[in-house]
Amino acid sequence: MQLNSLGFPRIGRRRELKFALEKYWRGEITQAELKAVASELRHTHWQWQADAGITLLPVGDFAFYDQVLTLSATLNAIPERHRGEGAIDLDTLFRVARGRAPSGKDAAASEMTKYFNTNYHYLVPELNAEQDFNVAYEQLFDEVAEVQALGHQAKPVLLGPVSFLYLSKTVGQDFDKLSLLPRLVAAYAEILQRFALLGVEWVQLDEPVLALELDNEWQAAFSPAYELLKAAKVKLLLASYYGSIAHHQPLVSALPVAGLHLDLVTAPEQLAVFVDALAPEQVLSLGVINGRNVWAAELDLLAEKLSPLAASLGERLWLGTSCSLLHSPVDLEVETHLAPELKQQLAFARQKLGELGQLRELLKHPASASARTIIETCVARRAAKASAADHEVQARVAALTAADYERDSDFGVRQQKQQQKYRLPLLPTTTIGSFPQTPAIRGLRSRWRKHELTDAAYTEQLQQVTRDTIARQLKLGIDVLVHGEAERNDMVEYFGEQLEGVGFTKHGWVQSYGSRCVKPPLIYGDVSRPKAMTVDWAVFAQSLTDKPVKGMLTGPVTILHWAFAREDISRDAIATQLALAIRDEVQDLQEAGIGIIQIDEPAFREGLPLKQSQWQHYLDWAVNAFKLSAAGVTDETQIHTHMCYSEFNDTIGAIAAMDADVITIETSRSRMELLNAFEDFEYPNEIGPGVYDIHSPNIPTVEAMVQLLEKAAAKIPLRQLWVNPDCGLKTRTWEEVEPALNNMVQATRELRRKL
Ligand code: GLN
Ligand code: ZN
Repeated sequence: MQLNSLGFPRIGRRRELKFALEKYWRGEITQAELKAVASELRHTHWQWQADAGITLLPVGDFAFYDQVLTLSATLNAIPERHRGEGAIDLDTLFRVARGRAPSGKDAAASEMTKYFNTNYHYLVPELNAEQDFNVAYEQLFDEVAEVQALGHQAKPVLLGPVSFLYLSKTVGQDFDKLSLLPRLVAAYAEILQRFALLGVEWVQLDEPVLALELDNEWQAAFSPAYELLKAAKVKLLLASYYGSIAHHQPLVSALPVAGLHLDLVTAPEQLAVFVDALAPEQVLSLGVINGRNVWAAELDLLAEKLSPLAASLGERLWLGTSCSLLHSPVDLEVETHLAPELKQQLAFARQKLGELGQLRELLKHPASASARTIIETCVARRAAKASAADHEVQARVAALTAADYERDSDFGVRQQKQQQKYRLPLLPTTTIGSFPQTPAIRGLRSRWRKHELTDAAYTEQLQQVTRDTIARQLKLGIDVLVHGEAERNDMVEYFGEQLEGVGFTKHGWVQSYGSRCVKPPLIYGDVSRPKAMTVDWAVFAQSLTDKPVKGMLTGPVTILHWAFAREDISRDAIATQLALAIRDEVQDLQEAGIGIIQIDEPAFREGLPLKQSQWQHYLDWAVNAFKLSAAGVTDETQIHTHMCYSEFNDTIGAIAAMDADVITIETSRSRMELLNAFEDFEYPNEIGPGVYDIHSPNIPTVEAMVQLLEKAAAKIPLRQLWVNPDCGLKTRTWEEVEPALNNMVQATRELRRKL
């Protein structure tokens, strides 16, 4: 019974790859030194997998930036503007990803976008009508040779041809992407041939698009593609993940592949459908260990469920992780500060490998002493979890009524009352929340965390920063101010650290893109808010000015999506608990005299299920969670929300149902096109379309912003419009922010004069 690892995180348990990459980009180490770090990481990760009993070691899961980009290079699908004089090399990849590299000419980076419904971002391949594909980059083959030289068997893991094409975008003249498939598959065949020559037995081709509801053309693309690959002298394992592919069962079962991998964590019900259709020699790899969460598996229950199948399939049954472990933190062993009650509930990537072996032990030798120990551990862990429930939170959720989700009056009434209270000018100006997190601020926080700064001294210094931030906004003439979020490291972590039922790791980093990692909080129990989290800061900032200062909160849906959440209750239920905690904060802010409160939901769209038929269910509960967090205030209190990286056409009904008094969105790069959805829907509440692209260091001119505002005013009635940047300003410097906001205020005044 093979153990199947679909891929291991490459970033390193101390983020070694991140630091080496950034040093290389800054010119502090050579490419050879970077490659040495990479190679050492691969060796370590392979060794861990081998030690766990995995014999087919994944190759291709390592990437210097992104595995889709490595594949694009392998296929010679690199945009002309990023190519240098010679062959594709590592710096070519960095130019695609970052627009620049230590060598070669700068050129606009390729687009990056989220990989399915994960927080991992891949580089979107750019394909033109004349696109030729052939093997043009050797990294994958070198790595096969590398693992073989260590005495192991390699199992290359590649995105399959249909998914690769699906995820790419076309550039230049308009053409049908699928017309490229035959040429693309020919290049895949060449790659497989190279693997065969190296002595590779199994190759895993990932086709995650199978979890989507594909239209007929894309469904029809699979069979011819895989018929062409059949000739290669390697065995193909077709891997799916992130969702059920049962809706494509006839198609999948007919493909000429030697093995099939199913994600049984997100979709256990699809097992039966595929078992019945398995070809006589075909291998079935069961993705039963969750690659996307941090909780230890219930191995005893799993073994019970799987044992009949294990008996009938024998060697044709493989045990695997649900998907690549890329989405999981690396190693629990380095977490020396975690509460033991929490730590015993966890398994990170390295521990998940161990779970695969333990599960095999339970299936093969259920009566052994080690099997008994494994079962005892599982039982004890479950018992500990059950006793951690918070009955007060559960009673509160049970007592909720429909009225708790609704404001007292309709928006029209609220708008009037709010206008009377604040008397804001036409086109009120505001910002999204954060102001530059300067090295000085980061320095304060790190000294405070190391206990080199007392709580009192830290607070006093941050108050000084807040004073300065308010003064600058007053000088700029902004209408609705913010306190600047100087006290926050991260918009989710800040709240997570103050909530009951939420825990934090020290090293639980997960790659988001390139060298960027995030450290999601762990929602392990019922969530509640023991005391106010932001009120002191809001009150302090408001005490400095007569202009309104917004209270600033992260919404329940975003906290949930950017955390590792428990799995014993539904996501819907967790969102409700989070919403109650935020609702308490909203009410405390109102009580303390804060009349405008922003509840950020930048991750709202990310939660959409892969299958459109399931969207409505998600939108219903997500909208409800937001409403529950926001609705506990009087009509005069103005609730804002903020979303970025969004697209609104297909969710505008839900956005309107959230019923925020004001929504601020990112629109400057789309040149206000995102507003069309609001225009067509006749969105009734107020909107602040971003006029300042905060992702760029460039300072937008007054004219440019006037133009954008005029565009907005052509779509949305003036009375509904606000003026603001696209998003928070924490990644920018004051040298950029001050003139940009000054121009934004001037642009607003110019427009007000014109009207
Ligand atoms: N209030 C947050 C900030 O300004 C919002 C960040 C976000 O939308 N990602 O930083
Ligand atoms: Zn934002």
